[in-house]
Amino acid sequence: NGGGQDAKNLRVKLVLLGDSGVGKSCIVLRFVRGQFDPTSKVTVGASFLSQTIALQDSTTVKFEIWDTAGQERYAALAPLYYRGAAVAVIVYDITSPESFSKAQYWVKELQKHGSPDIVMALVGNKADLHEKREVAVQDGMDYSEKNGMFFIETSAKTADNINELFEEIAKRLPRPPI
Ligand code: GDP
Ligand code: MG
Repeated sequence: NGGGQDAKNLRVKLVLLGDSGVGKSCIVLRFVRGQFDPTSKVTVGASFLSQTIALQDSTTVKFEIWDTAGQERYAALAPLYYRGAAVAVIVYDITSPESFSKAQYWVKELQKHGSPDIVMALVGNKADLHEKREVAVQDGMDYSEKNGMFFIETSAKTADNINELFEEIAKRLPRPPI
């Protein structure tokens, strides 16, 4: 097949959504390059990275990751960005209740306009800032459970749960028939 897609090797488009500043770009850079740069500026210009992971059952998943260049500020552009996405990673910052509300807005938007079989993950990032926490773990868990999503708290800074996030997504992807 022309899509580079078979039962053992999946290739999927993954988009990140969430307020500006919640750490979307840092999560991607941590996952793809193993780095965290605290001085990095807000993403300017489109960014596209890919990373392949191998699962225990010897299948591989290649994530084609679309990181917004600030399109999160322009709701009207969002459909162009998440069109055809098999995975949406919706990120908030555990120190920001506003960003948690915005994450819920994105979940509703994708439920209405995303692909029907899209895999959605809700991510509470900056978990290292526990002394500044303003969104309880339980709130993230409750919301994701109600909406049939996978939930995890991460830190792009310490790398906590970053690989786990992508591994869990990979396991939840619908498999093409063999
Ligand atoms: P984006 O706008 O969602 O892409 O956010 P960025 O990835 O550009 O990150 C915004 C800011 O949050 C930057 O100053 C990062 O250094 C910081 N940041 C990102 N992830 C973390 C994290 O896990 N912990 C902490 N403490 N800071 C983070
Ligand atoms: Mg960014």
